[in-house]
Amino acid sequence: MILISTPRFEEHVPPPGHPERPERAHVLDVVATDFARAGGRVLTPTAATREMLARVHASEHLDRIAATAGRPAMLDPDTFTSPESHEIALLAAGAAVQAAEHAISRREPAAALVRPPGHHAERDRPMGFCLYNNVAVAAAHAIASGLERIAIVDVDVHHGNGSQWMFYSDPRVLYVSSHQFPFYPGTGAADEIGRDDGVGFTVNIPLEAGATDADYDLVYRAIAVPVLEQFAPQLTLISAGFDAHEADPLASMRMTASGYGTILELLRDAAAASGPIALVTEGGYDLPALRECLEATIRVFSGEAVATARAATSSAAPRGERALGAVRAAQAAFWRGL
Ligand SMILES: [Zn+2]
Repeated sequence: MILISTPRFEEHVPPPGHPERPERAHVLDVVATDFARAGGRVLTPTAATREMLARVHASEHLDRIAATAGRPAMLDPDTFTSPESHEIALLAAGAAVQAAEHAISRREPAAALVRPPGHHAERDRPMGFCLYNNVAVAAAHAIASGLERIAIVDVDVHHGNGSQWMFYSDPRVLYVSSHQFPFYPGTGAADEIGRDDGVGFTVNIPLEAGATDADYDLVYRAIAVPVLEQFAPQLTLISAGFDAHEADPLASMRMTASGYGTILELLRDAAAASGPIALVTEGGYDLPALRECLEATIRVFSGEAVATARAATSSAAPRGERALGAVRAAQAAFWRGL
């Protein structure tokens, strides 16, 4: 696999005490530096163009973010810019595009290690620490390059409202998300399944607080894998948020880095038959957990042997079982084998 990152991601500076802090970029940089030292390839991102962003964002939104260049601004109660943020956010979106391009052209996994994150950013507004929707920009770029079936799998603990709504009526982009529910941002119920031509192409897996590796293992095996196998994406994009980790200060899940490794391995293997995979980082606010999860991710996508966990028994995964019931009720008409 290759990585795409730059130490410049530290230059986006929300106010002191904000969880999406520059130290997160230091973790991304340490992981990328270690990867390079071990012989891996790390590319420096180039900025996304206005044309790339305009495929998923309104021009008023692009103007509003661009107008923050050179000054600090509060865009909503959670979302701030510093003088460099606009430029750094363009690099984050550009890195996501590069990861997708690399995955498509080289048939090799690529991971964009970026901040700020993107999946809450809507067509017409920044939201939840996110300025541009990096993974959505990458998906739209792949569609513009001629691909017809893109999957976005969002493993962040929060629902990716921006990614969902941008492609809600578009059957070319399958959106699958597991997330703590109910929780910020409030969307992501199992019965949000897409609209018009997109019905069935949004698959939400809402999990109660406290979900463990076993719960995630169950829903990924029982829902994400069969859905991906049937959709057969030509490109799978993973919104790689690691805030479902038990140490995360924002959410209340109990995942470990090894549990993340297992679900990423399931996704890797489910996608392998139909197309390549690119990853784009999202949340993950405990620094040691973020590092551990990124290292587990690199092991999975470098093809190292990972201790394959046994499928969890349903008695060990009560939250997973309840989520599975809700998803089956909403999705059984669209996907076989749920
Ligand atoms: Zn998150």
